[in-house]
Amino acid sequence: MEKLSTPQVTIDTIKKYGFDFQKKYGQNFLVDAHVLNKIMDAAELGEEDCVLEIGPGFGTMTQYLAEKAGKVLAVEVDDKLIPILQDTLQEYSNVKIIHGDVLKLDLLKLIQEENAGRPVKVVANLPYYITTPIIMGLFEQNIPVSTITVMVQKEVADRMQTGPGSKDYGALSLAVQYYAKPYIVANVPPNCFIPRPTVGSCVIRLTKYEEPPVSVTDVSMMFRLIRASFNQRRKTLVNGIGNSAEVPYSKEQVAEALSRMNVSPTVRGETLTLEQFAALTDLLAVSQQDHA
Ligand code: SAM
Repeated sequence: MEKLSTPQVTIDTIKKYGFDFQKKYGQNFLVDAHVLNKIMDAAELGEEDCVLEIGPGFGTMTQYLAEKAGKVLAVEVDDKLIPILQDTLQEYSNVKIIHGDVLKLDLLKLIQEENAGRPVKVVANLPYYITTPIIMGLFEQNIPVSTITVMVQKEVADRMQTGPGSKDYGALSLAVQYYAKPYIVANVPPNCFIPRPTVGSCVIRLTKYEEPPVSVTDVSMMFRLIRASFNQRRKTLVNGIGNSAEVPYSKEQVAEALSRMNVSPTVRGETLTLEQFAALTDLLAVSQQDHA
């Protein structure tokens, strides 16, 4: 079948259906075969794979996915795109188009029904306005996924993969790196899309860990401590956590725990590693028991 990935086919499809791009849905369609091939290589798809694609648009990437994977579940929110997808992808019997909002869909049930609950590979050119809720939702709700290979805003990719000391390091870096190993696949300039986005883009692959790289007794508390530490960027960690309504620890308890870790009490959140946040969480839990 003719490839959908050329700018001309996209322009013809817009004209044929009188399609209007919806900014509110983050619609910037990929029209670059070279980038699509890079995404396919990074996703390492085979016949045995079931892919979850979020936001198929006109079906450009879906076509590539359908040719590599055994099955593709393509979730699209825009009603106007459903009949277009039924047309552009009519030759692919292994594609299931699902009309819905990915943030509201019961993905566990979908994967249970369509892939017997086995992990799927997520591959998508994501709508940028909901990148973080989509990715964190997949991790925190324990949706069975093995890899997530996605186009995101460059700045968000930088935040996901960076470590302590960088200006981009924050709660998103720690959350992503607790669940997965990030790898930057490619930088993608605005001219690879119609319409062109105002920001740079990046393809990132997140390979989910079977077991998290650190062990911590209370994961939810660790993430509350992380959020408290980064909420007040210019404050010390002791003040950030001590002033937070989200966590029950005093500044003295935090200073004491840091000193046990041989970390200065004037340290800022952005210098701590994931391992150190895990250790701090466990030490604070013990100190709370001692105070009880
Ligand atoms: N995959 C297409 C491509 O690469 O050309 C389109 C990518 S475009 C960046 C994002 C797509 O996500 C659009 O088709 C948009 O309508 C869809 N979308 C936006 N919000 C969504 C949501 N909440 N659930 C499912 N799809 C959504």
